[in-house]
Amino acid sequence: MVYLSRLVSDKETEEYGGQSFSTSVYGSRWDIEPIPKYTLPDKEMPPHIAYKLIKDDLQLDGNPVLNLATFVTTYMEDEAEKLMTENLPKNFIDYEEYPATVELQNRCVNIISRLFNAPNDEDAIGVSTIGSSEAIMLAVLAMKKLWKKRRVAEGKPADKPNLVMAASATRYFEVEEKFVYLTEDSYVLNPEKAVELVDENTIGICVILGSTYTGHYEDVKAVNDLLLVKNKKTGWEVPIHVDAASGGFVAPFVNPDLAWDFRLELVRSINVSGHKYGLCYPGIGWALWKSKKYLPEELIFTINYLGSDQASFTLNFSKGAANVIVQYYVLIRFGRQGFTSIMRNLMGIADYLATRLESTNKFEILSDRNGNGLPLVAFSLKDKNIHYDEFDVAHRIREHQWIVPAYTMAPHIQHIKLLRVVVREDFSRERCDLFFMDLMHTIDYLDKMDKDSINVKRTAAQGWRTLKSITLMGFKNQSHKTNGVC
Ligand SMILES: *Cc1c(COP(=O)(O)O)cnc(C)c1O
Repeated sequence: MVYLSRLVSDKETEEYGGQSFSTSVYGSRWDIEPIPKYTLPDKEMPPHIAYKLIKDDLQLDGNPVLNLATFVTTYMEDEAEKLMTENLPKNFIDYEEYPATVELQNRCVNIISRLFNAPNDEDAIGVSTIGSSEAIMLAVLAMKKLWKKRRVAEGKPADKPNLVMAASATRYFEVEEKFVYLTEDSYVLNPEKAVELVDENTIGICVILGSTYTGHYEDVKAVNDLLLVKNKKTGWEVPIHVDAASGGFVAPFVNPDLAWDFRLELVRSINVSGHKYGLCYPGIGWALWKSKKYLPEELIFTINYLGSDQASFTLNFSKGAANVIVQYYVLIRFGRQGFTSIMRNLMGIADYLATRLESTNKFEILSDRNGNGLPLVAFSLKDKNIHYDEFDVAHRIREHQWIVPAYTMAPHIQHIKLLRVVVREDFSRERCDLFFMDLMHTIDYLDKMDKDSINVKRTAAQGWRTLKSITLMGFKNQSHKTNGVC
């Protein structure tokens, strides 16, 4: 058969809104009309036009690899991306339909629990989650339930549960947060103070492996040892939950002898983000329990309407299966050897950057310098009386496209301002050098500017952000957070 070019009929033209579909997006009527923003449009548009219009809008987003604020993975190998794309249509909750996917979750739970030294003679269990936030909530629910059961059995009131911690990384349900406040001398949870705060209503102590402020590891072993003594004296059974969102995939490879995990008697549950140093794109985390006796059965729900009896523990029902699948890819692709090489490189680059920053004599390093923390560099300006601050640096360096967050420390030491560079897999030595150069240009520029001009710039920047949030979000009362540190 021979195809000849032909004129597009009027009818066909009409179907595409008066345009022939050989027209480029930018020659079509959609290019000159406002695109549907806040209400559902009455008419359709061709897929390639919708695609291009949205793609063009998204060009205004920052470049993920230049975002030094986030711990969340911005690079994965092609094979991983391919696996994700191939599995996008699968709903993870349909266990009956996707038994092979469920098997991969089970393998991940096994691999990660063993990485965290789950004892062989106890039946560790775990689930995949959307991220650490969901995993922490599940772990807190389990601790709360166990505490409540014990209190009720003892005929004691069970209406005032509390959780002891240094910094809140998430929200908890109807559990009082008892804070051990950080001090200028220590940016992590003080084990003595934490255990002192424990009372009969304490459902657990949450210890963080890798502070989001400075990357330091909290001393899980010290908390464990002090708490063992207190539990013995009082007859309580207060457990430890470790929030290893970031540190869970770093410490086992960089500090394998550091006992922070299931090796410690009172560590009953751990959460870790697959999408941070678990090297997966966002949407995956893990909640793990040392034994199934620490996850009360009442919390597990069984569903049967999808074809078979299935047990699950989740805050949401449906979710994509691709993230679980790709976590398994990462685990078997890299293995202990690959993870160790990657994590050691990241630590090396963090150390290199910290050393370069220190050598300028302009910065003070607030993150760990001994290899016992996350691969990140938290730093502040050495000269506290200079006419600009960390927020001005963060603002100006955006002009070089880098996103570096400036933030204040936890409650009670909020006067301490700092900047933070998270070293992720794609932050190579070369990229680090380019960043350092831009940072020094920024400092040089701020040094030359006077206080008044900096103030004008600062106010203008804030004004622009507010205006943008109103017009883009459409809801005037929506608050727009510009300074996330996670
Ligand atoms: C990132 C982080 C969280 C939240 O984890 P998501 O996976 O983003 O939900 C919780 N705790 C700590 C310590 C973190 O670093």
